[in-house]
This record gives sequence, C-alpha cells and structure tokens, in this order.
Amino acid sequence: MKCKRCSAKATVQLRSHNTAFCKPCFVFFFQRNVERSIERERMFTRDERVLVCVSGGKDSLALWDTLVSLGYPTEGLYLGLGIGEYSAASERKVTAFAAARDLPLRVVRLEDEGDGLAIPQAALHTRRQPCAACGTFKRHYFDRAALDGGFSVLATGHNLDDEAARLLGNVLHWHVPYLAKQQPVLTPRHPKLARKVRPLYRTSEYESATYAFLRGIDYVVDECPNSHGATQLVYKDLLNRLEQAMPGAKLAFVSDFLRQAQPLFAAAPDSPTGECERCGMPAFGDVCGYCRLVAEIERRRSQAVAHS
Ligand code: SF4
Ligand SMILES: [Zn+2]
Ligand SMILES: [Zn+2]
Repeated sequence: MKCKRCSAKATVQLRSHNTAFCKPCFVFFFQRNVERSIERERMFTRDERVLVCVSGGKDSLALWDTLVSLGYPTEGLYLGLGIGEYSAASERKVTAFAAARDLPLRVVRLEDEGDGLAIPQAALHTRRQPCAACGTFKRHYFDRAALDGGFSVLATGHNLDDEAARLLGNVLHWHVPYLAKQQPVLTPRHPKLARKVRPLYRTSEYESATYAFLRGIDYVVDECPNSHGATQLVYKDLLNRLEQAMPGAKLAFVSDFLRQAQPLFAAAPDSPTGECERCGMPAFGDVCGYCRLVAEIERRRSQAVAHS
C-alpha cells in the first residue's frame, strides 16, 4: 500500500479514515488533525498560554509534543496522585520528557499540598471509588494551577476513544447534565476558571500511540492500578468491537453527537457562579466539591481514630 500523501511505501494504515501513510506523512497528518480541531472548535490562539495536563501516558505527551511542534506557547502540569509505583514512574517519564526538550513543567504532588491527601487515602476514608475521588482532586488542582499560573487555557489529552466511551456511558444512563457538558471546549463563566479543551477528541488511541512511537516519546505503558475493572474499559471494548466491524464508527458516533445532539442538551449551560468559602475556588454552593470531599475524609478519619 502507498502513502496517500507522497506515494512512498505506507507503514501506518488507518482503517477508520480508509487511508495509509509513510512515517513522516503520518506525523504531519496527526499534527494537522490536531491543529484543525483547535481551529475548528476555536479552542485557543497562538497568543494564549496553554497549560497542558500531562499524566506520563502516550496521549498527554503526544498532545504536548504536537502543541510545541505547532508553535503554541505551552507549559506542562504534572499532578502526582500518590498512587505508589504508578505515580512514581509517571512522574519520572514526564520530567524526563520535559528535560529532554527543555520545556517548562509544573509539578504538584497531592501529598505535599495543604490537605496532604493522596488518592489512596481519600478512597480509604470515604465510600467513594478511587476514580471518583481522583476526578474531584484533578479538577480542583488543575483549576488551581491554571489560576495560580495565569493560564486562560487548560488542555488535557482525552482522545477519541475516551470521548466515545464517555458518550456511550452518558447515553446508556441518560446523564443529561453530563451530555450537556460533553464538548471539546468548555468555557466556564466564572473568571477564576480556565477554558478546558481536548484537542485530541478526534484522534484515536491507536493514532496517539503510533505518533508517540514514531516521535520517540517514552511514556508510561502501565495503566493506573485503579483502572482495572473500570466501566470505561467495558465501553471501550464494546466500541472497539464495533469499530472492527464498522471502521470509522467511533468518530461518527462522537462527531455526529457533537454536531446534531449536543446543542440540544447544552441549551441550559451549567457553570458555578459563587466561590467556596474554604478555598476560594468557584463553587455551586457555599463549599466546593473538593472541600466537601476533604471534610468528609477528615470526619471519617477522626471517627476511625475515636473507635480505635
Ligand atoms: S484510573 Fe482512576 S485513580 Fe487512576 S488515574 Fe485514572 S481516575 Fe485516577
Ligand atoms: Zn508519505
Ligand atoms: Zn473549596
């Protein structure tokens, strides 16, 4: 098979796009697709500083690499979740990536922050699944870092597979408020919150893994130990089987939703307007979700001590 762009021998076949590329042309295709997503969705301009949340995995590092190659001013943000060897290995990959390319990186570790709570403790002291607590912590610390650093844009490496799995879950349970917020760009109304963007929302996991490999990006291959048995993986498996039988199904599912159905759900946008009386970050009520979680952990911790 020949490369669609230059007719050299193709090495990367993309069934979902019914096309194939040689190595350099695939890198060009990948970066061009990300740039088109940024421009089409008006995610940000070259004048805005972008804080890129990097986990050490292939997607976020491929995203950071692409944004740098395209000339966007970026800074990386690594949030250490305190999940044993997984977090230690992830931090090593991120710091090595940034150092090798001389890129600015912010490192925030949950254990070192004010509340000193990492994900395992948060899950232990509440009835929440680790991933639920993790989502709350990530939102809080990502927003906080963007605010502290004066960034107007916060980018994450969620890819097409993530978006399709999230959409399937939201549709299966008809989570209307979540469907209203499922967009590649979220512009909160509160001035303390940065715009949240997902430039890889049309890029499959296979494409970002291939890109990372071709660009020589050394990423953490092991998944977080808490991801085992996660419902998201069941949805991803289902969607992969669908994609196998119908190449392009994932992209059509997500892009048709965004074009045709999402505007109907988004008719009443939902964004916090008040501020948390404990930490000062935007909140729907008097106290934000993060501070409610911390209070719950502290309450359960002291109950446990009282009963011991
Ligand atoms: S799998 Fe769960 S706990 Fe692990 S990083 Fe993802 S959300 Fe956090
Ligand atoms: Zn080519
Ligand atoms: Zn708060």
